[in-house]
Amino acid sequence: MVARQLRASGGMWFRFGATQIHVDPGPGALVRALSHAPPFNPRDLDAIALSHKHLDHAGDVTAMIEAMTSGGFRKRGVLLAPNDALVDEPTVLPYAQRFVERIDVVTERGGPYRVGDVEIRASIRHIHAVETYGMHLTHGNMRVSYLPCGRYFDELVEDYALANPDVLIVNVLRFRDGMDVDHLTWDQARAVVEGVRPRVAILQHFGTKMLEADPSALAQTLEDDLGIRAIAARDNLEVDLTTEVAAVGV
Ligand SMILES: [Zn+2]
Ligand SMILES: [Zn+2]
Repeated sequence: MVARQLRASGGMWFRFGATQIHVDPGPGALVRALSHAPPFNPRDLDAIALSHKHLDHAGDVTAMIEAMTSGGFRKRGVLLAPNDALVDEPTVLPYAQRFVERIDVVTERGGPYRVGDVEIRASIRHIHAVETYGMHLTHGNMRVSYLPCGRYFDELVEDYALANPDVLIVNVLRFRDGMDVDHLTWDQARAVVEGVRPRVAILQHFGTKMLEADPSALAQTLEDDLGIRAIAARDNLEVDLTTEVAAVGV
């Protein structure tokens, strides 16, 4: 998907009040941000956060740090990343690591890491080829969890359920297949959503088979069966989380 750019791979831009955080700036993140109307300005970012070092999540991280810090001219912002993204074949190039004001090395269930008025806690370690952690973000009463790539295991559901998120963002790469890879299938993603029971679930990071299976239709079945508001991400999707959560009610 990334190599052919069948779907954009720039990651997510969060605005929590005045605090802005870019999560997983994959290939195209910088161009996508600047070409948005109105543009998202990297110089307004308070932090850049990586779930893991893989290029589909971090391809633009160095470019994004350069943009956030005006090419290193203004030392500012926080970088959150697992250790292995910062050392030995780092995806965040070392010269740019010096441009940020602070680096928080993310560890299993670590934190809280504070960015502006947002608190971020790391999840249990995901089963993935490299060091991978999800994020539990809290801003006021709003709790958002981001579950990045990884293999299914029961403790994964327990960890995210414990965070009790209003909104759960889940990466679901596979539809149904027998492949032995460290990514969730649709049925596993569904089991995660069912176990965590957020008010709103947002599904993203689709592989080819997922796209063919029509993510919006799948989200609708999830909504019908579980009574949980479900949104399938698409390029340039903007979601007002406060409105979505309020619409669901208590
Ligand atoms: Zn990965
Ligand atoms: Zn991925």
